Amino acid sequence: MKMFLAKAAGLLLTSCLLAVATSAAQTTGIASPSPDPQIAAALRAVSPQRIQQTIEKLVSFESRHTLSSDVPASSGKGINAAAEWIKGEFESYSKACGGCLEVKTDEFTQEPGNRVPKPTTLTNVYAILRGSDPANASRIVLVTGHYDSRNSETNDAAGASPGANDDGSGTAVSIECARVLSQHKFPATIIFLTVAGEEQGLYGSAHFAKMAKAQNWNIEAVLNNDIVGGDKTPGDTTQDPHTVRVFSEGIPATATETELKLIRALGGENDGASRQLARYIAAVSKQYLPAKEFHPLVVYRRDRYLRGGDHTSFNEQGFAAVRFTEYRENYDHQHQNVRTENGVEYGDLAKFVNYNYVANVARVNAATLTSLASAPAPPAKVRVLTKALQNDSTLVWESSPGGLATGYLVLWRDTGAPDWEHAQTFGNVAQATVPMSKDNVVFAVQATDAKGHRSLPVVPVPER
Ligand SMILES: [Zn+2]
Repeated sequence: MKMFLAKAAGLLLTSCLLAVATSAAQTTGIASPSPDPQIAAALRAVSPQRIQQTIEKLVSFESRHTLSSDVPASSGKGINAAAEWIKGEFESYSKACGGCLEVKTDEFTQEPGNRVPKPTTLTNVYAILRGSDPANASRIVLVTGHYDSRNSETNDAAGASPGANDDGSGTAVSIECARVLSQHKFPATIIFLTVAGEEQGLYGSAHFAKMAKAQNWNIEAVLNNDIVGGDKTPGDTTQDPHTVRVFSEGIPATATETELKLIRALGGENDGASRQLARYIAAVSKQYLPAKEFHPLVVYRRDRYLRGGDHTSFNEQGFAAVRFTEYRENYDHQHQNVRTENGVEYGDLAKFVNYNYVANVARVNAATLTSLASAPAPPAKVRVLTKALQNDSTLVWESSPGGLATGYLVLWRDTGAPDWEHAQTFGNVAQATVPMSKDNVVFAVQATDAKGHRSLPVVPVPER
């Protein structure tokens, strides 16, 4: 992601004043704020060894196929045993932080449907790190991976399905984030989720996302990690161990006909909430990880061709959600029976997982979760005034709810630019004018606090 180094652009203004950017500010780009020491410490605690132990443990259940849910957990095999173990891990982290996590299950019966031949019990397992600030604790950021697995046969519940990469790796990211972040407190709430039923048709995440929507959960961001093992097949030189892809939808799945009209009229195809989240991830990653070591590749696409994932379940309930996936997938090592044919090893085995890679993915996730959970809520009802025909642009908004905001950033970029190019800082105001025509650029507003935490950007709607 290309961003420009900033010099300075701060203008503290009261709401009754219009801000006039200097020409210097116009050419000033977006500076990364200084890293938050608490977040940096949390990222240092992410352990490739712990992630390896988690993935090897998940593989040891032989199969975590969703349809193995009639195998008792006491056998030590199958998806129930895996669910019990995940729950026990969350509980052990909670014990280590004086009970800071609420460990829960979302258990339900999936009625017969595609890839589910008979009524099947599914169990999503999750832990909640409740926000420490009562005025912000209802705000939620969530990380998820699917702990079910499969082999070559969609409905083979008995055969070996190690699922080390797909999706032991994503499950391990949720679990490692829970272990590390439960040692800290953040104003907003973080949920660490592991779901079942993905391989049969996103059933677990669909149930969870519908529950969240029905209960009016205020989820600001969903990070879905699926196939983040950084496959390291011996002799393969095409994998990129420094890059993780981040997929996001452009036009929200839930956009109404009226919203779609506006998107068409204003060129908003590249600015849905999930797309803003993807750009935010890239910015946060740049702030906390050396890009040479590790960086996200933001892909402007909901998912890979003809493939799906649990983020889509959340998109379909109106939540901003993205998918992390390794740079290059090895199809011999996913959805395959474990076997060797003509010297080629098939199967999703732990030995192909690059644990340092998964740790870096976990760090990007943890940096995003903690940045958002530390930041003020996004400003509400952001609008750009369009009544007066003028070449300046005036944006108005309602203060970030929750009282954490001490200022705002107005961002803009050329309509053809992939990422935010310019930013101007404002004080604790609800209106700003920049000498830039709204017809030529895309704007957004971010709430900020004194420590440099930034909310997700909100693109304005026009107000006559
Ligand atoms: Zn998967």
